Amino acid sequence: MSKILLIFSGGMDSATLLWKLLTDGHQVDAISFDYGQRHIAELESAKQMITYTEKNKNMKIHHDVIDVKPIFIHINSSSLTNPDIEVPNCYYTEDIAKITVVPNRNQILLSIAVGIAAARKIEKVAYAAHAGDWSIYPDCRTEFMESLKETTRLSTLWHPVEITAPFIHMTKADIVKQGLELGVPYILTRSCYNAGNLSCGTCPTCVERIEAFKLNDTTDPLNYKIH
Ligand SMILES: [Zn+2]
Repeated sequence: MSKILLIFSGGMDSATLLWKLLTDGHQVDAISFDYGQRHIAELESAKQMITYTEKNKNMKIHHDVIDVKPIFIHINSSSLTNPDIEVPNCYYTEDIAKITVVPNRNQILLSIAVGIAAARKIEKVAYAAHAGDWSIYPDCRTEFMESLKETTRLSTLWHPVEITAPFIHMTKADIVKQGLELGVPYILTRSCYNAGNLSCGTCPTCVERIEAFKLNDTTDPLNYKIH
């Protein structure tokens, strides 16, 4: 058992990781980032999930939402952060990923998380990159992770922080399988890249998510605009 700082988006991957870490007996602090994502509803989902989890597991979870909009307003080439660039409606491909990627986002957010962890003397930072991500996004791949792990070790020698990505070799369907076993309340999670109260059901991450439940012979509990 150790204390872990979890990057918690409000999506299903990080929710599953939260429940896995708690089930394994770790103490978890969670941080969410407001980077100006058009799917700002995911931050509301993050807060709701923390509240639900605290009640369900009868514990307090320290959760911070960190405003990094003033930085990401300058990194505006992605459909996730620039309202002038439309979110594609289809399955992930490399070209689609290039439209949705926020350049260097994970390295920036992980660096902030590592700084916070070192300041709080927390030994590990966890994030929920998975196999579907790393095949497409450069900053979700194992080569990036291994390199950043080493850089982080070198930069935190006085209060060593280790980055861990337990799902890096798992598919979205594998994550759902594990989450269903853990009892993760997926109805409270949010994945959609579009704004709005209801998830769209057609953007790449909605399509991927719906498919992951199908592969587990079950249905995503979320209501979608189009299913
Ligand atoms: Zn969507």
